[in-house]
Amino acid sequence: MERYRGRVAMVTGASSGIGAAIVQALLREGLTVVGVARRIHRVKELELKDAPGQLHAIEGDVSSEESIISVFKWIQENLGGVDILINNAGVTAEAPPSSGKTEDWKRVLDVNVLGLSICTREAVQDMLRRGVDDGFVIHINSVLGHVPAIDDVVVIYSASKHAVRVLLEGLRLDLVAKKSRIRVGQVSPGAVMTEIWDYQTKFSKEVAMAMAHMQPEDVAAAVVYMLSQHPRVQVYDIILRPPGSVF
Ligand code: NDP
Repeated sequence: MERYRGRVAMVTGASSGIGAAIVQALLREGLTVVGVARRIHRVKELELKDAPGQLHAIEGDVSSEESIISVFKWIQENLGGVDILINNAGVTAEAPPSSGKTEDWKRVLDVNVLGLSICTREAVQDMLRRGVDDGFVIHINSVLGHVPAIDDVVVIYSASKHAVRVLLEGLRLDLVAKKSRIRVGQVSPGAVMTEIWDYQTKFSKEVAMAMAHMQPEDVAAAVVYMLSQHPRVQVYDIILRPPGSVF
C-alpha cells in the first residue's frame, strides 16, 4: 500500500456498513479519503485520531449526475484528482418482476448501475487526463451478481449486480484498448451485517442475523488486499462467502 499513501481515494456510500469500513481501512493505510454519501454527518464521524490518513466528507447523491460531477469538481479543485475509486454505494428493493413498482426498479438501477457507471467514467477520465497510470477502480459487487436470481424479491438487485460484473469486464477491455495500466476489480460478498437488511421485509435483519454472515471489515480487508498487490498484478475478482451459508 506504500505507493498509495497520501493519494486520493473516493469511496461512495461511505456513511454506513461496508463503505464506512473501507473508509476507515484506507485512513489506517494513510490515504486521503473522500467519503461520499447523502448523510454526510455520518461520514464525518468516521474520522480516526490515530490513523495517518485524511478524511474529507463530501455530500453526494450517486443517482444524480449533477451531484456526481460536482463531487469530482470539488476533488479536482481541492485535492488534484482521484487516484482510486471505490464504487460501493448500493441499494436493494423487494420488487418482483411481475409486481414490482417501476420507481423501485429505477432506484436500484440508478444507484447500482448508472451511478456506478458515471462515477467510473469521471474517475477514469480524471486519471487519464493527469497521466495516473497506477489508478484503481473497484466495484463492490455481490455473490448475487454471479449466480442466477435466488428469489423473486431480489431479482432487480441481482440483475443490477450482474450488470456490474459486465461493466467491470467492459471497463478492463476499454483500458487495455487505451494502453492504460489503471487496474480494475470487484469484491463480491455474500451476506454482510449492515443496514441494507433494515429496508427489507422478506430478507430482514432478523433473517440475516440467523444465517451465516460476515462483517463490513471483512470486505474492507479484501479491498486493501486488492490495492496492495504489485502493479503488475490485477486482482480482478474476489468472492467472499461466509462458511455455512447457501449464498
Ligand atoms: P448500507 O445500507 O449499510 O450502506 C449503503 C450505502 O450506500 C450508504 O452509505 C448509503 O449512503 C449509500 N447510498 C445509497 N444510495 C445512495 C445515493 N443515491 N447516493 C450516494 N450514496 C448512496 O449497505 P451495505 O454497506 O451493505 O452496502 C454496500 C455495498 O455492498 C452495496 O453495493 C451492496 O449492494 C453491497 N453488498 C452488500 C451485502 C450485504 O449483505 N450487506 C452483500 C453483497 C453486496 P446515504 O444513504 O447516506 O446516501
